Amino acid sequence: MDQITLLINFKSQKIEIEMEKENTIYNLKQKLEELTGVLIKRQKIIGFKLSGKMPDDSIKLSDSKLVISKKIMLIGTPEKVVQEIQQVPDDLPEIINDLEYDYYPSQKDEEAFHQDSRVQELLKKRIETVNIQPISEMRKNVKLLVLDIDHTIFHLGGKGTTIAELTRPYLHYFLKRISPLYDICIWSQTSWKWIEAKCYEMNLFSNPDIKITFIMDTSSMIKIKSNHLENDHDHYVKPLEIIWAKLPEFYSPKNTIHVDDLSRNFVLNPKNGLKIKSFDKLEGPSDDQELLYLTEYLEYIAKYADDFTKLSHENWKTFLKSIGQRMIRNTNQN
Ligand SMILES: [Mg+2]
Repeated sequence: MDQITLLINFKSQKIEIEMEKENTIYNLKQKLEELTGVLIKRQKIIGFKLSGKMPDDSIKLSDSKLVISKKIMLIGTPEKVVQEIQQVPDDLPEIINDLEYDYYPSQKDEEAFHQDSRVQELLKKRIETVNIQPISEMRKNVKLLVLDIDHTIFHLGGKGTTIAELTRPYLHYFLKRISPLYDICIWSQTSWKWIEAKCYEMNLFSNPDIKITFIMDTSSMIKIKSNHLENDHDHYVKPLEIIWAKLPEFYSPKNTIHVDDLSRNFVLNPKNGLKIKSFDKLEGPSDDQELLYLTEYLEYIAKYADDFTKLSHENWKTFLKSIGQRMIRNTNQN
C-alpha cells in the first residue's frame, strides 16, 4: 500500500510518522494523540492546506488538492500537563488555600510585623539562603513588577479546554506594553516545576516581546501569624525585602510594585502592593479587562512617579478614572 512519511515538529521534538495515504487527517490526529498525549480536541496542526484552509478531518492524505508542507507543526498541551496545572499541587507546605481568608494590610500591620523578632529572623534567613537566578538581563532605570500567577493571570481550577482559555485575557498585551518600563518577576506560592510549566504553557518564554527577568517560588516565602484571620491561621507572605536586599543596585521600595489577588501576600510591604480582582470568581473569563486597566496604570506610574511608596495602589482604579477624565478634559480644551 502507498505510504507517506510525515515529519512533525512538536515543542522541541521531531516526530516521524508513517501513514497510509488512504488515511485521513483524523487518523493522523489519532496517531498524534497516541504519541504526544495531546488530545485531538486540543491539537492545532499547521502545515496542511486545502484551497488555502486547514482541511477537514475527513480529508484523505492522498487527496490530490491537499498541500502538505515539509514542515508540519503540532501545537497543543499534553493532557497530563493540562490536568496537572489546573490542580492545586499537593507538594506544597501546609497553607491556607481558602481564598476567603484575605485581608487588606494596613501600615499598622506592617509596623507590627517589622517589630516582630521572629519575622525578622525568618526574613534574615531567607535573605541569606534565597538564590535569585536571572533568566533575562536585569536593567537599571526600570521599575520592577512582581507578579503572582494563580487567580492573577491564570484561572486555576478553571474549566477551559485550552490553556489560552485559562490565561487571563490581555496577558500578552499587558506584558508586552509594560516590558520597556519594568523588569518582571513571577512569584507564585507553588514550586518551581509548576511555575515553569504554567509560564511555558502560557507562552511567556517563547514570546520575543516578553522578557521574564526572574522567578521566585514558595521557598522564598515566609510564614507569619496574623490576628486578622480566624483561628489564628498562619499564612505565607511574599516579602519584597528579599529582592531589595539581594539586588539593591536594581530594585528598591521606590520602584517595585507587587500585583496579587491576595492582599495578605503583601502584608510586609503594603505600600508596594496592588490587589487585583481574582480571576477565578468571574462568571465568564472572556470579558475580563483587569489587565487592560493595569497596563494603563503601570505605564502611567512608571512614567510619572519617582517613588511608588508615595502612591496609594489601593485606589488604583479611582486614580485611573481621574486621569482618564483629565485627559478627556484636556482634549476637549485643545
Ligand atoms: Mg494568587
